[in-house]
Amino acid sequence: MLDHHHLEYRDKLRAFCEETIAPLAATLDHEQRFPSEHMGPLTAMGLLGCLVPEEYGGTPVDTISYCIAVEELARVCGSTAIIIAAHNSLGTFPIVRFGSEEQKRRFLPRATAGELIAFGLSEPDAGSDAGGTRTTARLTGDTWTINGSKCWITSGPQAFAVNATARASTDPENKDITTFVLERDWAGYDIGKKENKLGLRGSDTSFLHFDDLKCPDENRLGEVGMGFKQMLITLDGGRISIGAMALGLAQGSLEVALKYATEREQFGKPIASFQGIAHKLADMATELEAARLLVYEAARMKDAGLPFSRHSAMCKLYASEVGHRVCEIAFSVLGGVGYETGPYPVERNWRDVKLCEIGEGTSEIQRLVISRDLIRELSGSTRETTAEEPSIKAREAAKARN
Ligand SMILES: Cc1cc2nc3c(=O)[nH]c(=O)nc-3n(C[C@H](O)[C@H](O)[C@H](O)COP(=O)(O)OP(=O)(O)OC[C@H]3O[C@@H](n4cnc5c(N)ncnc54)[C@H](O)[C@@H]3O)c2cc1C
Repeated sequence: MLDHHHLEYRDKLRAFCEETIAPLAATLDHEQRFPSEHMGPLTAMGLLGCLVPEEYGGTPVDTISYCIAVEELARVCGSTAIIIAAHNSLGTFPIVRFGSEEQKRRFLPRATAGELIAFGLSEPDAGSDAGGTRTTARLTGDTWTINGSKCWITSGPQAFAVNATARASTDPENKDITTFVLERDWAGYDIGKKENKLGLRGSDTSFLHFDDLKCPDENRLGEVGMGFKQMLITLDGGRISIGAMALGLAQGSLEVALKYATEREQFGKPIASFQGIAHKLADMATELEAARLLVYEAARMKDAGLPFSRHSAMCKLYASEVGHRVCEIAFSVLGGVGYETGPYPVERNWRDVKLCEIGEGTSEIQRLVISRDLIRELSGSTRETTAEEPSIKAREAAKARN
């Protein structure tokens, strides 16, 4: 599945991550500190513009390469991986995909030059049920007044803008939900205190509050009422990167466990020589490889223009659960030292990987997405669907016409 470009890209990213990102990872976690000093090198590597066309300052790569980038970052530092994954998949992507030319020219060059964009979907009463958005948007003349709060916003304290959803009226079918690019400098945009999290402690997560925030209509992303659909399309892509993040965290843990098992001796032998430990290593490597194939397959389908909603949900579900298992087994291979914070990153990875089963839809929600798609297929549709289905159908119809 990987060609030589992918392998070269992985080598380049691995060298960069080992040299620049890894040395600070434990400190960021310990001090709950955002890696400001990494932003320059990450920008120089093109990692803030993976999904942005060159004309807006991006360094676009295919989705498998993007997965490799997130995977390599996560292999050494989960916090840096989520900062980059959220910025690309949830920050820049909606503007690339749904923004006007003027919006692309205004926001994307800043985003690719080192400033983060956040994603504001979740609210205290609208988590899995993202359609339950309570944030309101009222139009007077050509200015919207936004009121409400978004929670759990990755890079909320750092982002210069957030793609946030709000209700333009009170449509029960969510056809009033609209996306706005809200800017941090505006009066009424308040950043809550950062959350004290179990893992990914180098990535700041916070509330964003909007109090009579005046937003010009030119910052509306796409049509009024398209916000819910836009967010579903955005999450289809984002879930692949969360799958990639789980792979990286698990890979990092597997490598530590493997090395430790060949060096640590008990009963006069390396513990890797005991079948109980050797089988653990084999199971970790096998499950991880299966998860990797599923993540890359979803990425390949996305790049091929195929419907990929089900595969994106499957890869996130499977990779995050495998990631959790692998990180936990690695933990046990290390015995007592695995439980100590500091010397080995396995306990950090184990804390970090849990987010992959929650963010961008919990495992329960992925199972819902997958099963609904299977049932839909059984009831008449011939193949997997996607949140982008109407546009794909239009493309297919156009192809047939030509
Ligand atoms: C570190 C971190 C970073 C995040 N970053 C962002 C971000 O940048 N932007 C953003 O908008 N959000 C972000 N989130 C929010 C995240 O997407 C939500 O936490 C997630 O969607 C779950 O919502 P919830 O926490 O409200 O849980 P709930 O929706 O309250 O779910 C609680 C439990 O009920 C289950 N459940 C709910 N509905 C169903 C159902 N229909 N069937 C079966 N089970 C169900 C869930 O699976 C879960 O187990 C982040 C979260 C974390 C922890």
